[in-house]
Order: sequence, then structure tokens, then C-alpha cells
Amino acid sequence: MAAPQDSVDFARANQSHADIRDAVRDLCTRFPDSYWRESDRQREYPEAFVKALTDAGWLAALIPEQYGGSGLGITEASIILEEIQRAGGNGGACHAQMYTMGTVLRHGSAAQKAHYLPRIASGELRLQAFGVTEPGSGTDTTSLKTTAVRKGDRYVVNGQKVFTSRVQHSDLMLLLARTTPRDQVQKKSQGLSVFLVELGDAYDKGFSVTPIDTLMNHETNQVFFDEFEIPAASLIGEEGKGFRYILDGMNAERILIAAECIGDGYWFTERATRYAGERVIFDRPIGQNQGVQFPIARAYCNVRAADLMRYEAARLFDAGEACGEEANMAKMLAADASWEAANACVQTHGGYGFAREFDIERKFRETRLYQVAPVSTNLILSYIGEHVLGLPRSY
Ligand SMILES: Cc1cc2nc3c(=O)[nH]c(=O)nc-3n(C[C@H](O)[C@H](O)[C@H](O)COP(=O)(O)OP(=O)(O)OC[C@H]3O[C@@H](n4cnc5c(N)ncnc54)[C@H](O)[C@@H]3O)c2cc1C
Repeated sequence: MAAPQDSVDFARANQSHADIRDAVRDLCTRFPDSYWRESDRQREYPEAFVKALTDAGWLAALIPEQYGGSGLGITEASIILEEIQRAGGNGGACHAQMYTMGTVLRHGSAAQKAHYLPRIASGELRLQAFGVTEPGSGTDTTSLKTTAVRKGDRYVVNGQKVFTSRVQHSDLMLLLARTTPRDQVQKKSQGLSVFLVELGDAYDKGFSVTPIDTLMNHETNQVFFDEFEIPAASLIGEEGKGFRYILDGMNAERILIAAECIGDGYWFTERATRYAGERVIFDRPIGQNQGVQFPIARAYCNVRAADLMRYEAARLFDAGEACGEEANMAKMLAADASWEAANACVQTHGGYGFAREFDIERKFRETRLYQVAPVSTNLILSYIGEHVLGLPRSY
């Protein structure tokens, strides 16, 4: 008796996924290749796209309905981001809102959630920025040096962040800072705290930003705090537990970035396949040569395989089960697959792969990021080696 009901549920789930894909694709048709090419050339933030995505409610997918969001799961959220990439866009302009708000949702007070989440869901406030990485600590997050010292009803923040993305287009920033000096805690992961910082008038009060010019169009910055005061009420959860809260959000981040890479991977293999079928050299389509076919076919296989791991990670996440292993593997496999597909696509296009009007060089630059951020391939392998395989800790 169970099977038919399961099939009905399965069909329903797939139907709604297909509906999400159709709706996001439809929105993306308003932002064709030329839109992304031009914003890349001008190094402009894709404001119109982010606004359209927000107005349509897609960035509030993971916010529960009681706070004005759509209360969808990570599977659905990942499909939204995948479709943006698959349409040739770049969700890196806004993807962080989907996972940063999870920290507020899971660890914020009732008052913080009631105040911020409906405003984030409606688009009144953007929570696009998170400041974790620092120049002196990099991957070694818990060695960060930015401090937040409690003084009465305020915290005074001093220090510096680097690669803080989208902060100039965000109203709020999630900040990780040290609240207890390193020599007063047993483990260096202790004594770090998360704050939800309102950026409205911050620029007049010791908060400053210097943009970093990067390989691709990605608004990212150095951020400086000089005796910058924030209300004590900006603290999320308990003081000193912030590193744990940031870790809690990482599986969602990994799954969503994996989905973006999968969208990129499909985009590259589709473009490569189309071009290989159309381009005639030596009186035949170049795709008739197996030397051209095989790299595309191999990349496609790897994108499909990574896609399965992404769905498995998302399924576990949505079921509330442990998914660190699968989320990490999905992110690495998807980033590798999209990079392989990007290379195959450039190679298939020969010289035209380098011409801006084909958009391939742009997507090639964009997808390269995911070998490094938000977590590098080495760090994922290190996680699998130590936490899954039980090999000795290396750092
Ligand atoms: C465009 C862009 C946007 C970003 N956006 C944000 C953001 O919004 N917020 C934020 O907080 N951060 C952001 N980051 C930062 C990103 O998460 C870091 O760049 C990344 O975590 C690596 O840190 P790092 O650059 O200091 O490299 P490092 O830590 O200096 O590492 C350099 C290289 O060495 C490798 N390595 C280091 N230690 C080991 C080890 N023990 N074993 C093996 N390999 C090792 C790393 O894998 C890496 O390849 C962004 C980065 C970029 C490029």
C-alpha cells in the first residue's frame, strides 16, 4: 500500500520542482547574456536582477512562512540557484542571503527574528554580507584577530576583514569577531561571537570599505573597523559560541554552491555541445571528431554524478539528518565538474572561447572561484580525510 502514496508524493515533489525551474527560467529570460556581459564589462552590481529575484520572493525561499518567506527546503533553494547559473547568470551577486539568514533563524532571539526576517523576506533589508575571512588568518578562521569588546550596552569592534562580498549592496552584515582573548579560552574555537550589524549609518562611525578588483565581476571588499560601536543587542545567540553558529550554516552553503556549479556545468556542456554540432571545419562538424566529443561527454558525466551527490546532501539536510560528508563532497565534486566543463567548453570553441561576445570566458572566470571559495578543495579533502576516513589531523 505504501508504494502508490510514495509515488504520488514523489510526483508532487517533482511537479513543484519543475514549477520552480520554469518560473526561475522565465525570470532569467529578462536577463539575457547581454545583460551579464555588460555588467561584467562595467563591473557593475547586477542590481536589476537582484531586485527582480527578491521581488519574486526567490531569495526568501528558506525563510519560514511565519516570517513572510516561502518556507521551502534546501532542495528547492538549490534548484533556484542552479537555474540562475544554467541560464547564464551569476547568483554570486546574491546567493549569500539564502544561507546567512539561517544563522539568524537558528540562533537569533525571538525579537531578532521577528524584527529582521520579515524585512529580509520582503526585500526591505538585504542580508548579503558576511565578514569571516581576515588577511592574517585566511582558512584558519579561529585565528582571526578582529575583536568586539563589551562596553555597557555596546560592543566596540576593531580589526579588519577581507573578501567581504556584497557589503556595499547590503543593509546588514553577519560579523564573526573575537569577544574573549585567545589566551583566556581553552580551545581557539571558543570566545568567538556572531553579530548582525546594521550598516545604515556605520560608514560615519568607524566602519570603512575598500573594494578589491577581482578576476570576475564580484563585488568584494576589504572592511575596516576602527573603534566601531554596535549595540549589544546585535549579538546573535550566546557570546563566545559564534564559531559553532557559523559552522552550523556551512552545510547549507556547501549544498547551494554545489547547485550553482552544477548549473554552470550544464550551461558549459550545453554550449559546447551546440557549438560542436554547428561548427564545420574540414568539411564536417567538429563534434564528429571524438577528440572533441569525449571531453564534453566526460564533463557531462561528472556534472551528472555531482548532481546526484547534491540531491543526496539536500535530501539529508531537509530531513534534518547529518549531512556534513555529503555536503562537502557535493561541493567539491560540483566545483571540479563545472571547472572541467568550463575547460572543455573553451577548448571546443577554439579562439571564440576567448571572445567576450560568446560569454564563455566570462562564465569560465566566474566558475573558477568555487575551487577556492567559500571553502577550498584542499580543505574539503582534509575534512573527508580526517572526519570521514579517520586519518590523522594535519593542522
Ligand atoms: C571572490 C571572493 C569572494 C569571497 N567572499 C567572501 C565573503 O563574502 N566572506 C568571507 O568571509 N570570505 C569570503 N571569501 C574568502 C574565501 O572564503 C577565502 O579566500 C578562502 O576561505 C581561502 O582563504 P585565503 O584566501 O586566505 O587562503 P589561504 O588560507 O591563505 O590559503 C591559500 C591556499 O592554501 C591552501 N591551504 C591553506 N591551508 C592548508 C592546509 N592546511 N592544507 C592544505 N591546503 C591548505 C588553501 O586551500 C588555499 O588554496 C571570498 C573569496 C573570494 C576570492
